[in-house]
Amino acid sequence: MIELKTPREVEEMRPAGRLVHDVLQRLTEVAEVGTNLLDLDALAHQMIRDAGGTSCYIDYHPSFGASPFGKVLCTSVNDAVLHGLPHDYRLRDGDLLSVDFAVKVDGWVCDAARSFVVGTPDPEDLRLIDTTERALAAAIEVARPGNKIGDISAAIAGVARAEGYSINTDFGGHGVGREMHGDPHVANDGRAGRGIPLRPGLVIAIEPWFLATTDEIRTDPDGWTLRSADGSRGAHSEHTVAITEGDPIVLTA
Ligand code: MG
Repeated sequence: MIELKTPREVEEMRPAGRLVHDVLQRLTEVAEVGTNLLDLDALAHQMIRDAGGTSCYIDYHPSFGASPFGKVLCTSVNDAVLHGLPHDYRLRDGDLLSVDFAVKVDGWVCDAARSFVVGTPDPEDLRLIDTTERALAAAIEVARPGNKIGDISAAIAGVARAEGYSINTDFGGHGVGREMHGDPHVANDGRAGRGIPLRPGLVIAIEPWFLATTDEIRTDPDGWTLRSADGSRGAHSEHTVAITEGDPIVLTA
């Protein structure tokens, strides 16, 4: 079922969005060559506690998960792209790190992700990251009343294809509200003008993610981390976006 938020409820979601932004920003600042993924997770956990929030991930145990997630961040390195379980790993020069983070504050959830390189970047990694960011921006631009959910999907896919990337549609965006995942599903590929109409009060996480040279993924033995089938790198950009009568509100900006 699709829930629409009142303008007041959208305003109530802002503290969660702000905390998500602040955590991702802080992680981007502190992550460098030699940083341990477990220390990034611990930092995010402390920031949740300081803000009086609740992690959406630590007890998360969907049907596909081997056990509760147990951490507050997803950290996906290089050929890992989604659901990366933080583990004892120190970042190396040139690593491409994707961080995904969702938190509940005052009863509302917001969810966002970003990718960046620590140390010396490979230009191809920067192109991949930039493409996910431009796909996200293009999707947000069409997140307006009068458009359909398919316009968002088509905007994402158009940016990816123009750069020569293929698209995996096993995982995509989703409704966000009292819980992390709700209707509607927001696919990263689809046809413009199709699907449900976008209405004021619809709040969705939009999350393009692409792999450099494949659209196939594999799951690690940890039961969570998803990585490319061919070892090529992945990137992921996500914001929680509220559709309004006017311009969309990017709650996690
Ligand atoms: Mg997310």
